[in-house]
Amino acid sequence: MTDVAADRVVADLATMNDDEFRAVVRGWLGDHVVGDFASLTGRGGPGDEDIGFDIRVRWEQELGRAGWIGLGWPVAHGGAGASLSQQIIWAEEYARADAPARVNHMGENLLAPTLIEYGTAEQIERFLPGIRNGTERWCQCYSEPDAGSDLANVKTRAELDGDAWVINGQKVWTSLAHVSHWAFLVARTEAGSQRHGGLSFLLVPMDQEGIEIRPIVQPTGGGEFNETFFSDARTEADLVVGDVGDGWRIAMGLLGFERGISTLAQQVGFERELEHVIGLADTADPRVRQRVADAHIGLQLMKWNAHRSMSATGVPGPEASISKLHWGTWHRALGEMMVDVLGASGQAVSDDVDAAHEHLMEEDRGGHAYPLSLEQKLFLFTRSDTIYGGSNEIQRNVLGERVLGLPREPKPE
Ligand SMILES: Cc1cc2nc3c(=O)[nH]c(=O)nc-3n(C[C@H](O)[C@H](O)[C@H](O)COP(=O)(O)OP(=O)(O)OC[C@H]3O[C@@H](n4cnc5c(N)ncnc54)[C@H](O)[C@@H]3O)c2cc1C
Repeated sequence: MTDVAADRVVADLATMNDDEFRAVVRGWLGDHVVGDFASLTGRGGPGDEDIGFDIRVRWEQELGRAGWIGLGWPVAHGGAGASLSQQIIWAEEYARADAPARVNHMGENLLAPTLIEYGTAEQIERFLPGIRNGTERWCQCYSEPDAGSDLANVKTRAELDGDAWVINGQKVWTSLAHVSHWAFLVARTEAGSQRHGGLSFLLVPMDQEGIEIRPIVQPTGGGEFNETFFSDARTEADLVVGDVGDGWRIAMGLLGFERGISTLAQQVGFERELEHVIGLADTADPRVRQRVADAHIGLQLMKWNAHRSMSATGVPGPEASISKLHWGTWHRALGEMMVDVLGASGQAVSDDVDAAHEHLMEEDRGGHAYPLSLEQKLFLFTRSDTIYGGSNEIQRNVLGERVLGLPREPKPE
């Protein structure tokens, strides 16, 4: 790969010990989380995704220029080849600096490792640079109205027409589709095929006439996800990852990345949120102390489990479900504690909470600065942590059947 940024500060990682690396990270974040970027410290996270999106896009490109995107990717693919402990340090320092929330989690942490594992050399060469320099964002087109937990029920079709796939169907809950340049999409490419067979994993440009995106406004007032309609949308014939008809395997490989360690940075951020709760809480109350202690213990378990998973190489297996089940449940409980410790005011709306950021909301998507505090937004958003990326029930099924070897749940034919 030849396009690695000239002004990258992330070089010679192999020669740095962890203390030196931490000092470099801390110094860089201290110098760069300034101006517009400092106005968004701690913003843009769960339930708050619409905030300052344009500034956060610039921030992503700033990170890209310095080489912080793709930190753990192999050097041969333009990454920095950072060690496990260096990646953890980056996540810790990023959370400590309260740097703005990232805008391309799906490109950097889901698609990129999938391409590195299953993609062709041409696909890697074509798509990793845009992710790494923060200019190409990605969304995930898996779910459909009748295919969520039961993803094998995908009905969106793709047919080859000369040198292009022609795609027809509907996806739903497509996070950030409206601000993405590309989608990775699961479609049925073999007419008459059933369930897991005959599916393919396609890469599709979003900016085309055959794609219509309709926002879904969430209880937080924001609209991070969408319905996405494909009507004779097109993509090049060679933009299929893995073999035609082998899309289920690729889609599941990507979910392993999604459910497992890709959320490390987010999980490190949980520590900040817990500190925030403790700051708000009446810790003289033994019931509150008990909940805080439980949350602290859960967080330590999550951290060590994530480190253990990260030390394995290759595509995460069904054990990634342990991680998803744990962090989703933990974070939902934190959201509940967040509003509980506020007492009655946690349930009331106030009109002074988000005025400073009202101008940053995307009115044209039906979003509006609901008079909700960040705590209330977090509470509402964390209700979805046990649903997206595969619900808790589905994670338990995966663990029961594929890890513990229990009898399989009856499936529709
Ligand atoms: C905030 C958010 C962001 C999302 N972003 C994306 C995205 O970017 N791209 C994308 O493709 N999708 C996205 N999704 C969709 C998500 O993957 C689905 O919501 C999820 O897989 C559940 O599917 P469903 O909503 O169709 O619910 P259903 O599958 O209809 O499930 C309904 C309920 O039944 C339970 N259930 C279903 N089957 C079983 C079973 N076999 N055993 C036991 N219980 C079962 C479920 O656990 C759930 O409680 C997002 C969802 C949310 C909430």
